[in-house]
Amino acid sequence: MRINRRTSGGRGEYEISGSEANLTPKALQGRRIALDLGHGIAFDTLTHLSQQGGKPRVRRIEGCEIHLHLQVAAALLMPHPVRQDKALGGGAPVLQRNRYAIEQIDLAEVRPIDPDQVQITILGLIVRNNSYLSEEIRLAERMEQVRNIWENAGKFPDPIMKHLQEHQALVSAGTALPERAEKVVYDIEAELAELSSDLGVSYSSHTDVIPPLLQSLGSILLEPPLKIDDIDPEQLEIRQRTIREWRQWASHRGAESSRFRKQVREAYNATCFFCGLHFPATAFNKNPGVDAAHILPWADFDLDHISNGICACKLHHWAFDEGLLSIVHEYGNYYIRVPETVNDSLTDSLFSIEALKIHVGRVPLSRLPKEKSKWPDPRFLSELQKIMAA
Ligand SMILES: [Zn+2]
Repeated sequence: MRINRRTSGGRGEYEISGSEANLTPKALQGRRIALDLGHGIAFDTLTHLSQQGGKPRVRRIEGCEIHLHLQVAAALLMPHPVRQDKALGGGAPVLQRNRYAIEQIDLAEVRPIDPDQVQITILGLIVRNNSYLSEEIRLAERMEQVRNIWENAGKFPDPIMKHLQEHQALVSAGTALPERAEKVVYDIEAELAELSSDLGVSYSSHTDVIPPLLQSLGSILLEPPLKIDDIDPEQLEIRQRTIREWRQWASHRGAESSRFRKQVREAYNATCFFCGLHFPATAFNKNPGVDAAHILPWADFDLDHISNGICACKLHHWAFDEGLLSIVHEYGNYYIRVPETVNDSLTDSLFSIEALKIHVGRVPLSRLPKEKSKWPDPRFLSELQKIMAA
């Protein structure tokens, strides 16, 4: 059996069709619908099937704040759907707030509980928009994701954590989902849009929150195998080996990396370590013109610690990563060099090497972070020299 959306003169109505065992839609008329989402989560939706124009339609009964399809969407952390054709939007992704419809709800089981009530178990949903892009959402998989996010709610920033906890409480209460449940999903969308860059995920407002929440969780859950304080040069090799195995999990870097970028830019006041130019984000440019560059490459060492970072403009980040510019620490000072091999091989007629050479020399202390603990760690600089020379 399934519940389908019918255009119904543009209004959009949900009707039940098909049959299961000896049950026909007609036999279900007048019965209240309880919803079973699995994992012990079930509630009376305060909707029932009522014959209208010869069709068994899903109607709300007294005390029901939101329609069955809206309760399903809210329980599954989906953006708010619409039911009228004319309200549908187009394009991808399909799951966008007020731009898609739940077209079909496939039922795995319809079980009469008593003469007044029937319990349905959902197998999956088909959602679509005006471009006729449609997508299937498997309930079991979706609920698994929702539960995973609930269980890890405490790992998200406060506002998101509180909304997730309220969401879990509402869905697990055993009673019909109220309008408040939709508001909570909306609030999670809004908070996520606000905090996405801190969480190191990309999220456009009003779309599905589950992928970015899981992505962010993936990187929060992955603790680096060794702490920065434990590192001494002898351990770098061990660390490197461990990280290589571990990093396949961390192909997207998420929150950790975003925190690193932010900390480095702040410590250096958005000033390039090599040239001293100051390129913060402003009202005119959303993205700053300086990056947080890793001294020891992240891919091999995963040292997202401020002392393994330097702030560099786009040009000098590239030159540093390519080994065209190097940093040496001597007698408490930092020096910028062009390595001899580069100097010997590249001439200005071949490559604008002079444009990089003008920054060679001692780096003014004013260009470094205020706290000395945030300065580039000389051990990392010398380890990098070794790697580059190898
Ligand atoms: Zn620069």
